Amino acid sequence: MIVVKNVRILGGEPADIRIDQGVIAEIGQGLSGGEEIDGGGAVALPGLVDLHTHLREPGREDAETVQTGTRSAARGGYTAVHAMANTSPVADTAGVVEQVWRLGREFGHCDVHPVGAVTVGLEGRQLAELGAMADSAARVRVFSDDGRCVDDAVLMRRALEYVKAFDGVVAQHAQEPRLTQGAQMNEGVVSGRLGLTGWPAVAEEAIIARDCLLAAHVGSRLHVCHVSTAGSVEIIRWAKSKGWDVTAEVTPHHLLLTDDLVEDSPVGAYNPIYKVNPPLRTRADVEALRAALADGTIDIVATDHAPHPVEDKETEWSAAAMGMVGLETALSVVQEAMVETGLLDWAGVAQRMSAVPARIGRLSGQGQPLEEGAPANITLYDPSARTEVDPSAFASKSRNTPYEGMTLPGRVVATFLRGRPTVLEGKLV
Ligand SMILES: [Zn+2]
Repeated sequence: MIVVKNVRILGGEPADIRIDQGVIAEIGQGLSGGEEIDGGGAVALPGLVDLHTHLREPGREDAETVQTGTRSAARGGYTAVHAMANTSPVADTAGVVEQVWRLGREFGHCDVHPVGAVTVGLEGRQLAELGAMADSAARVRVFSDDGRCVDDAVLMRRALEYVKAFDGVVAQHAQEPRLTQGAQMNEGVVSGRLGLTGWPAVAEEAIIARDCLLAAHVGSRLHVCHVSTAGSVEIIRWAKSKGWDVTAEVTPHHLLLTDDLVEDSPVGAYNPIYKVNPPLRTRADVEALRAALADGTIDIVATDHAPHPVEDKETEWSAAAMGMVGLETALSVVQEAMVETGLLDWAGVAQRMSAVPARIGRLSGQGQPLEEGAPANITLYDPSARTEVDPSAFASKSRNTPYEGMTLPGRVVATFLRGRPTVLEGKLV
């Protein structure tokens, strides 16, 4: 039995939480008995849930493993992550998703829910074994070719039809491949000045519009990964106004960073640390994404944690890999972009980083409100802390963060997974 003393649930009045056998047994004041942990007035949130994490195992264990990636997740306050399918081999069979699921059970510092590929080998030609992955021990409910777009409309329609049988969802990386061939950064004023091939907003928006129409046509669930443009927000708002079952995510970096960093930043011009897919966009896009997350048009924050080894990032811009690590800075970036700006309170953060991602992934036992009888998945967060981001201190195997040297608000003090601390006093247990 553990009693966590002096925490503020969703930022409310001070309270104590008694945890017994993995469950929140009692919430009240002046609780005692068993092991006592001082919460120090931290904000208590339900354990965070990420719908979009790249754990890289199997195949790229030099970048991340299930063990290091879930350590990174726990440090960031997460109690569950969805592991993307673009591994090697691709997670497109029951065998591979069960392998990832078993690695999570054995080495995970949080729950690991494998995402299944939509198409065999992510090649966009033939549907993968969606039903077998859903029926496997991993019980896959989220399917995505993330990193690539399912651009064939017939295949996308079939995938949407197929997943209805087991209440699954197709999570689309919306990017029309012909419109983004050779793209290096956002298409706009900055790409024009730098002479880099641009990634037009319409490449994302056209696929989102098509997929919303397809999802409505077949009556299925669609989830849009990492929305990055103001136009995408308008399309999703329209789809929701029709009552269609469409959800969307935004990454922390798209809520804070803009494309002019490619030209001029604290770490110089053309620094590939800012190279990411979809690309960083404009200030107007960032403002639209923040407003959409605040009003619920965008449902959740998902990290798109994309670890890469140094040699794949510290190279010339055109050759560098796309992506950023994000698990250990997500909550701080959301505080900076959404809480400090008055757009969200802690209850709103809990919805968008725990309850709703758990619901989209159809997870039971995650994302539940902190109340008596709920599983004790709890994140304690000190919003008054200020921390200079030091990648060498990351639990992730990779260091490719765009926030190095920046001072961000807040610090994850502790994380509990079914009552067991995975992080205490900011350190892995
Ligand atoms: Zn993606």
